[in-house]
Amino acid sequence: MPYLFDHFESVRELLSLTPLGLFTDIDGTISEIAPSPPEAGVSPVCRESLAILAGYLAVVVAVSGRPAAEARRMVGIDDLVYIGNHGYERWVGGSVELVPNAEEYPAKVEAVLDRLSSLICIEGVIFENKGPTASIHYRRCHDREAALRAINKAVAGLVRESGLRVSQGKMTVELRPPLEVSKWTAVRTLIAEHSLSGVIYLGDDVTDVDVFVALHHGALPFKGLGIGVVGEETITDVMLQADFTLNGVGDVERFLKRVAAEVAGRPAP
Ligand SMILES: [Mg+2]
Repeated sequence: MPYLFDHFESVRELLSLTPLGLFTDIDGTISEIAPSPPEAGVSPVCRESLAILAGYLAVVVAVSGRPAAEARRMVGIDDLVYIGNHGYERWVGGSVELVPNAEEYPAKVEAVLDRLSSLICIEGVIFENKGPTASIHYRRCHDREAALRAINKAVAGLVRESGLRVSQGKMTVELRPPLEVSKWTAVRTLIAEHSLSGVIYLGDDVTDVDVFVALHHGALPFKGLGIGVVGEETITDVMLQADFTLNGVGDVERFLKRVAAEVAGRPAP
């Protein structure tokens, strides 16, 4: 897909629409991927631009695979909306709301993780219990391919019993409930709530592709722009489905700064 800074007029066109919403993933988009989740931190340049944009746009949203409360802590801006656990959670007024029908899954996820941690004894594997979903990270393993094979083998048997779904992310295996919930369903809800005419979405991984694809469905009552943040670990679908690409968090810093400068001076919504 074309490089965004070669086509900034498309962004400018979208910025003329109101109400406008900006949605961004966190890890790999506004925060460099770290060896383990606690080591990651949001770029101060991105944080500053998002804080400015929150004052001018109808809504600015952080959409993450992390728990919503953790996303809120990491980004640290009061005026943003936080979607966590790939769409399963939303941070509302200081507490976390879970989507309907997901209540039974935190216990199932915990039970599966307990059994997995006894089945998978590989140095470097991190089991992250996020409530309604879980991530098993193998980035720190010496032999990542062998670790992934072992994780997939152990997961395959257990998820059949529990009914959980399995998907792959950047050096992670994700477990989640078998519900029709995704980053896109959360984004779609917010688009409707704010009656948005324009939508900008930035993301770097598999679960962001759902949003890129949905933004291209015909006959939508808004105009959407999907921006894929690419680097060494980028999967093909991010390249194929995004409208434009940016090269890593450094480019996202430049992009958000430029967008903040473009919208500053407009009357607040
Ligand atoms: Mg990401």
